[in-house]
Amino acid sequence: LFLPIVKEDLMVDIRSQFLGHVKNLGWELSPGQSEQFDRYLQLLLSKNRVINLTALTEEREVYIKHFFDSLTVAKPVPMEEINTVIDVGTGAGFPGLPLKILFPHLRMVLVDSLRKRVGFLRDVIRELKLDQTEAIHGRAEELARQESHRERFDLAVARAVARLPVLAELCLPFVRVGGWFVAMKGPDAERELEEAEGALQRLGGGEVKQEVLFLPEGMGERRLLIVRKLSPTPAAYPRRPGIPAKNPLR
Ligand code: SAM
Repeated sequence: LFLPIVKEDLMVDIRSQFLGHVKNLGWELSPGQSEQFDRYLQLLLSKNRVINLTALTEEREVYIKHFFDSLTVAKPVPMEEINTVIDVGTGAGFPGLPLKILFPHLRMVLVDSLRKRVGFLRDVIRELKLDQTEAIHGRAEELARQESHRERFDLAVARAVARLPVLAELCLPFVRVGGWFVAMKGPDAERELEEAEGALQRLGGGEVKQEVLFLPEGMGERRLLIVRKLSPTPAAYPRRPGIPAKNPLR
């Protein structure tokens, strides 16, 4: 009899702590936005019983390791200059969907090569009534060669998709000159950065800034690698699907 009540109390706690953590980053969520996160959580956890969307099954972890973590990408970029964003290998929508909820003005394109995940994303987009948000089923290598996507975005983001030399080839072709690419990484970022120096240069990327941050409630250390695009990506990139991963640029 008591269980649902305890559970509801706990959720109130988790939600209000999340709002506090986001506030510490400098952003205030409206009740409507907070509801959107809540609905997203429900959809994620219920659909996760049917298709594999996330390894996290605890509400608190989803709020910190998916929602909060996703929002951190916006911290080091000048969001007032950003209107179009592409999330490459978004999976269940991270970091793209939390970013879209926090910044409703964005035009958001979510890309994933797994059809079932894209189906889930379309359900979330509809349920949350997110405008200017599109989930595309496809491979980054192919989409980045289409005129409607190539060098059309102010910002490309990605989390947990590939090591940096590969990821740069999947993401930088989408970014307009003067735009940004942010890779969400773990503690090993330094080494990936060394490996990716040649690739970044070849793809039009400039100097890389690194930001270290800690998730609240002791949930881990993260690194953001932030790259400004300085020149157009040569037409040869990205190479055919699978080639960037098989034979990473040096
Ligand atoms: N970014 C999400 C996150 O952090 O929770 C998902 C991470 S998941 C480990 C990697 C995702 O990238 C998978 O859903 C996979 O289908 C997608 N992916 C990998 N390579 C891709 C490519 N070349 N083009 C599009 N999607 C890709």
